[in-house]
Parts: sequence; structure tokens; C-alpha cells
Amino acid sequence: MSSHDSFFKSVERNFDKAASHTDLHKGLLEQIKVCNAIYSMRFPVKIGNEYQVIEAYRVQHSHHRLPTKGGIRYSDNVNQEEVMALAALMTYKCAIVDVPFGGAKGGVKINPKNYTENQLERITRRYTTELIRKNFIGPGIDVPAPDYGTGQREMAWILDTYQTFKHGELDAVACVTGKPVSQNGIKGRTEATGRGVFYGVREAMSFKDDMKKLGLTPGIEGKTMVVQGLGNVGSHTALISQQEGDVKIIGVAEYEGSIYSENGIDVEKLMAFRKETGSIIGFPGTKTLKDNMAALELECDILVPAALENQITMENAHKIKAKIVAEAANGPTTSEAADVLTKNGIMVIPDMYINAGGVTVSYFEWLKNLSHMRFGRMEKRFNSNTYDNLLKTIEKLTGKTVGDKERMVLTRGAEEIDLVRSGLEETMVTSYHQIRETFQRKRKIEDLRTAAFVTALQKISSDYENLGVFP
Ligand code: GLU
Repeated sequence: MSSHDSFFKSVERNFDKAASHTDLHKGLLEQIKVCNAIYSMRFPVKIGNEYQVIEAYRVQHSHHRLPTKGGIRYSDNVNQEEVMALAALMTYKCAIVDVPFGGAKGGVKINPKNYTENQLERITRRYTTELIRKNFIGPGIDVPAPDYGTGQREMAWILDTYQTFKHGELDAVACVTGKPVSQNGIKGRTEATGRGVFYGVREAMSFKDDMKKLGLTPGIEGKTMVVQGLGNVGSHTALISQQEGDVKIIGVAEYEGSIYSENGIDVEKLMAFRKETGSIIGFPGTKTLKDNMAALELECDILVPAALENQITMENAHKIKAKIVAEAANGPTTSEAADVLTKNGIMVIPDMYINAGGVTVSYFEWLKNLSHMRFGRMEKRFNSNTYDNLLKTIEKLTGKTVGDKERMVLTRGAEEIDLVRSGLEETMVTSYHQIRETFQRKRKIEDLRTAAFVTALQKISSDYENLGVFP
């Protein structure tokens, strides 16, 4: 069995564990568990003087709500089982954060580093064409987004290809999210997953009793963090935790190795250093560890695996010394390894909740696209005028006046980025409370992942009931 088979099995094992804590109909559980539609494709693309046959997938895990939603991954390791596991996680993720979509995922088996920009564009456009042909993309059908190995650039190509085929379709720009802001994207989408991880961990750490069990004082401020992966998710998690949560980043792992400093690592400077030298190794003030997996075993308060699946396995689970593992990546801990962590008293904040910030802001982007208007456009000036009038009344009544700078702060109306961030914060906080409530109510549940799964299953099952299926 390859490690990717085990990723899907791992998700199924977690599902079964959670299902045993519910009294849902067996048939309904089976319907939720399976992948509804799998499109496996092969298409030729001319690379240099040769034709390469590209292997790619799009899996729609659940159609209980439409559109289905999930990123597209470009990686050498893509295979059907992996995309199925990732699509399934999207279903549960969306349910947990009340994003009204079914789960999906796409994968193209290529290492983007081996292709020129022009070749990547042709691969992306061809992949999109295949999706259009089979009706696997559309604002109300299936809406892709970035994932490992893809970003804004690829989303812009997808949108352009879709619009070429669907000329005049009013909502066409909502066919993909994670687009550049200039191409109908939304401010705050790029940082969203990392920012969501920060809000989620901060919320989990605000509960005094829960932290006491871990031997920690409440509050994220001043705590130590180790981050695996400085990609989009890992870098934003580290930067925002450092800047807004006063967190000390003591360890970082990347492809080329891992580094440590008990005094803390300035992530912004580290990223500039890596850009210049091509590596994190040798960053001033840090020690180089044995290899890139060594950072996972550091003593710290919060460990953030933000790279790929299957990083914490039965081989290293017993060596993890963190108090909290925040699964910023999808599936970084195998199901069995997570049981070891729980047994060792480590709190695992599960992927399907903690990395849901990305899809949450994708949902905001989709809503923005359907409304054909930027958030804040209608009310910003009105709110600002209202606050100004209020302030003027107070000044009149008190006979005192505020300074220009204070006036500016007090009378500011919300812009798109403010609304996105506050919507994301509210989502992460509320969802954590729901998971924690399930965890406390169902005494036999041992870990937050099972509690998150049960919360998701309850929501999905009531969706099916509303559809009149499985009454
Ligand atoms: N690829 C991201 C994830 O795994 C985002 C998906 C989306 O925005 O649709 O959650």
C-alpha cells in the first residue's frame, strides 16, 4: 500500500471513528463517506519538441450542496487516492465552517518547477478545457481554487479559459476563487489560510481549563511555535502569529533542512534570506538541525505542520514534544499517529477546522463575484458619516474636541479587507466553539478531530434531511 492509499484510508478511519459516536442511519453514513464523482483524465501537451501525456483528476466528494469546492494541486505525487482524500476533507471542512458547498479537489501530476511559465499556462488551460467539457466546472457546479503548487496566476488562466468558452455568462467570474484582486479576486484571500490558523489557535488557547491540562497558561502571546513549510500557509501563519500574537517562532523546517533558535526567528527576514540564498540554512542566529524532519521533534508550545500529508506517522509520533499540534496542512498526521499524540496528552487541532480559513474567504470571494460588487462599497461612506455625526454630537455636548488622527480612526468605515478579516475571525471563533461544545457534550470522544467530524456529520445529515433524502 502506498502512503497515498493510506492517506485516504486514514480519512476513512477517522470518519468511522466519528460515525460510531452518532446515531445516523447506516445508509446515510455510507452516502456521506463515498466520493460521488471521479473524473480521471489524460491529455497531451506539447513540451519542447515532444508531446507529454499529463495525468490529472477532479474528484467531487459530495453533492449534498452545490457548487462543490476545493483547490487544484500541482505535484509529482498526485494520484487518485490522494485527490479523493483531499476532496473528502473539503466536504467536512466546508460543513464545519458553514460554507454551503460540497467538497471537491483537483490534481495534476506534474512538478511545476520542471516547466516554463508558458508550458504551465498551456497545461492549466488544457486541464480547464477538460473540466468544461465534462461539466466539472462552473459557478454553480464546481469551483476550483489554489492548493499546493498553484496560486493566483493559475486561477487567472482558469478564469480566462472558462470565459472564452462561456462568453456572456453573467456569473462566469465565480467559476474559480483565489484569483488576483485585479481579476475579480478578493483582498485577503492569499493570507486567509494562515490567518485562519492564527485565529483558530488563539481561540483554542483562550480556554484556561483546556490550557491547564496541557500545562500552559491561557493566551497565545509569548508562546513558542515551530513551523514546517514556508509556503503560502506556513509563511502567513508564522508571520501573523509573530506580528499579531507576539508568538516566538523557534524552529522552521523547509525542503532543504531545518533551523532552530531559542531567541526566536524573524520570519520576514528569514523569507528574504531564503529568496536571496535559496535556502533557510545559515540564517544568522540559528542552529542547523540534523535534517528537515528534526524540527518536528523540537520542544515547543505549538507545532504547525504546514506542508504536505503524512508528516507525523507511527515513526515519529512518539517523539513529538509539542503541547499543541495545529494541522495547517491537509492530513499531516496519520490517523494512528494522531491516536499516539492524544494518548501522550497532546492537543491536535484538526486540519478540517484549522486550515478552513482558505475556503472561508473563497466563499466570500464567490459571494462578491455573484453580487458583482466589492464588499463595503455601499456602506463605507454611510458608516463613516454616521460615526462623524455621532462624534460631532458628543463634542458639542461635552465642549471638547478630538484630534485629527483620533477622528480618522473613530470615523473609519470598513473596507473590503476589514470585512474579510472580521468575517474570517468570526467564522474561526464560532466554529471552534461548536467543536469544543461537541467535545465536551459527548464524553466518550477523545480528541478534537472526532469532535470536528461529528459536528460536520450532524450538519451534513441535516442538509440531506432538508433535501428530503434519508428522512
Ligand atoms: N486548497 C484550499 C484547501 O485545501 C482552499 C480550497 C478553496 O478555497 O476552495 O482548503
